[in-house]
Amino acid sequence: MDKVICKNCSAENTTRSKYCKYCGYELPKVEIVSEDNNIPEKKNGKSDNKKKIAGIVAIGVITFFITFSIAFYSVQYLFPNHSIDNDMMSVASGINKTCPIMVDSETRLDNTIALPDKVFQYNYTLVNMDKSDVDTLSMKNYLEPIIINLVKSSPQMEFQRDNKWTLNYCYKDKNGLHLLMLVIKPEMYAE
Ligand SMILES: [Zn+2]
Repeated sequence: MDKVICKNCSAENTTRSKYCKYCGYELPKVEIVSEDNNIPEKKNGKSDNKKKIAGIVAIGVITFFITFSIAFYSVQYLFPNHSIDNDMMSVASGINKTCPIMVDSETRLDNTIALPDKVFQYNYTLVNMDKSDVDTLSMKNYLEPIIINLVKSSPQMEFQRDNKWTLNYCYKDKNGLHLLMLVIKPEMYAE
């Protein structure tokens, strides 16, 4: 069987895999996907959409933390002895087995990636959102304190806090266009 080498952790994967089974990094696609620059016609109701996104994303984040902690503790149980980097890979791998997963009607968790230097990334798609309808700065300003507070206070995040993980929350729109990335560093959630 043909193999694909993961660019992130150098592990061998089968060409059928979309994500690295060890670290969760997205593997190169075998099919060539053509760029589609046709942007669908603009919708009305920008500000309604903004409020809707903020609410939906907040629910998505909370739902995700529950999913995350279930996957995380399953991994902890299966692999009791591990180093930090292996922890991250195990967590990513555990979560990615359940991905892609809709965390609410608008938000899909596509996968997670264990990155070097204790960086752990969640990749989301807002499946009904068009980049042109979203004010990304407002979204960032609204979301960042909510996520920081969750990381600070959630008992399920104790392991991540103790080990000083940096947490990236990456959002794409329905066309796969990058919307925003929230980078939550340890000093942002430290007591
Ligand atoms: Zn990998």
